[in-house]
Amino acid sequence: MNEGIPKRLDDTDPVKICTSCESQCCKLGGAVATENEYRAIVETGNPDYFEKVTDGVYQMKWIEPEGRCPYLEDNLCTIYSVRPLGCRMFPVVHVQGIGPHLVRCELSYHLTSATIIERALLLSSRPEEVADAVLDHRKRASCKFERRLSRFDINYIEIEK
Ligand code: SF4
Ligand code: SF4
Repeated sequence: MNEGIPKRLDDTDPVKICTSCESQCCKLGGAVATENEYRAIVETGNPDYFEKVTDGVYQMKWIEPEGRCPYLEDNLCTIYSVRPLGCRMFPVVHVQGIGPHLVRCELSYHLTSATIIERALLLSSRPEEVADAVLDHRKRASCKFERRLSRFDINYIEIEK
């Protein structure tokens, strides 16, 4: 029995669900991008709100005190078509050294098991340096990140091999 997979399985109207939530996941403290993701964002004319943390890994400079992503305007993502993988996979997140987890925001109740597993596998397959940068990013946001994330319940996702 996988306790991390919710029972409601309908994948309906994610835009409506996320709009009513006012983009809580974009107010946790920025996001991390690979070299290709970073280039896709800045080379399509978007402002560069990143800093390089290591070779091929970039981190968004989030805005305090609310932890807002700089690309969020009026609760909408201004780089939606080129947003990084971590943003596209939410509410599935990968916790370094532990594995994939499901953040129980409203959208999580509307995703199918197949979608959740697919997202978990995609996040788990990211190169190690990206996963390390994500962990480092969370450490830098420290207690503020944890406090913001604690608004949600979080479940481990078991992936059967
Ligand atoms: S993915 Fe979840 S937290 Fe993010 S906007 Fe949608 S409902 Fe809100
Ligand atoms: S890039 Fe877009 S989806 Fe990702 S945190 Fe920023 S506003 Fe949200």
